[in-house]
Amino acid sequence: MYILYGVGFMGKTWVKEIYAKKLQEMIERGEIWEIRRLNGPTGPRALVNGREMIILSSNNYLNLANDPRLKKAAIEAMEKYGWGPGAVWAIAGYHELLDELHRKIAEFKRTEAGLVFPTGFAVNAGTIPAITEQGDVILSDELNHGSIIDGIRLSRAEKIVYKHCDMSDLEDKLRQVHGKYNKILIVTDGVFSMDGDIAPLDKIVKLAREFNAMVYVDDAHGEGVLGDGHGSPAHFGVDDEVDFHVGTFSKALGSSGGMIGGDYEVIEFIRNKARTWLLSTGFPPAVAAANLKSLEIVMTEKDRIRRLWDNRNYFKKRLDEMGFNTGKSQTPIVPVIVGDTKKARELARMLWDEGIFVVPIVYPMVARGTERIRNQVNAGHTKEDLDKALAAYEKAGKKLGLI
Ligand SMILES: *Cc1c(COP(=O)(O)O)cnc(C)c1O
Repeated sequence: MYILYGVGFMGKTWVKEIYAKKLQEMIERGEIWEIRRLNGPTGPRALVNGREMIILSSNNYLNLANDPRLKKAAIEAMEKYGWGPGAVWAIAGYHELLDELHRKIAEFKRTEAGLVFPTGFAVNAGTIPAITEQGDVILSDELNHGSIIDGIRLSRAEKIVYKHCDMSDLEDKLRQVHGKYNKILIVTDGVFSMDGDIAPLDKIVKLAREFNAMVYVDDAHGEGVLGDGHGSPAHFGVDDEVDFHVGTFSKALGSSGGMIGGDYEVIEFIRNKARTWLLSTGFPPAVAAANLKSLEIVMTEKDRIRRLWDNRNYFKKRLDEMGFNTGKSQTPIVPVIVGDTKKARELARMLWDEGIFVVPIVYPMVARGTERIRNQVNAGHTKEDLDKALAAYEKAGKKLGLI
């Protein structure tokens, strides 16, 4: 699967044996990722392993990953500022266009201040331990992203997990912790990446108000998709009641890098405290230029968002009509729940044979019995693309007895 380069170096045999054994166990449990090779840009369609495929497995919702305007902005910035950033931003300084990007993030998140991070993962891994300390408690949705889970692990605060989007469980837990801790932080994804459901932020902020809790929303899959592009807090009209607005350039924005918006003092504190900001080198200035362009596009080209939703509604409706189980999807993430690892893998393989690139999502990424294919619809898919994918689903679904 991977190319092993025979450079003649060998480590210690016993070290090799430790990981050979672990690897073998992972192979047996079916936990090995087969990495496809892209032979060109990613988009609604792409050349994958030498073949033109319809892509339903990418976070590139708004089809911006190969947008000529992003490329042009990056090339121009590269000409002016060179390629590498030099060192971590805190030490070497950052290129001037990051100031513009920070302002744009604040405009996008509708906050006082904005800040970029090397990645979305780095925002959570660095910010959560920075804003909490011993004597605090963090309430976290059980289906939150792994980077949130890791950020909480790095914090000295207590951690309590509440049932997925279950507001009575969250309320019970808030009642239990109220008055016993210095600060309470509620952390949630805005849109959950495996089911495509939306966190009930209207109810979460109401509970937060009642119990004096801070609210932290990681909107990686909501930005560019919900709330006229501004994301899930805007979707619910509660921008002002979210204290930490986290996001990433790596999904609908079609680029790379993390971001956070909030009040000025909050952001200034995080910039001076989060270790993933202080100790990890940021992306090249050319990436910052592309990110800036991408935010501009998302805030002005509303047609793109409309096309995404038209495609999503069409695709989901047809799958539902055929009798597939699309679970709780409310967004362009439309799972087809199969409930069995082997069947999920078999379905993905059959779709691949028909020219549709999807990935099976199995335990431990989702609970056993909910194994699935996760489809992610793109604004750039044509009706022909979607019909081709739907026909492939119908054929494979019948063969596997799913519909
Ligand atoms: C993808 C994702 C991240 C990680 O963002 P990157 O920019 O890819 O590091 C963080 N949080 C959530 C909810 C995500 O879906």
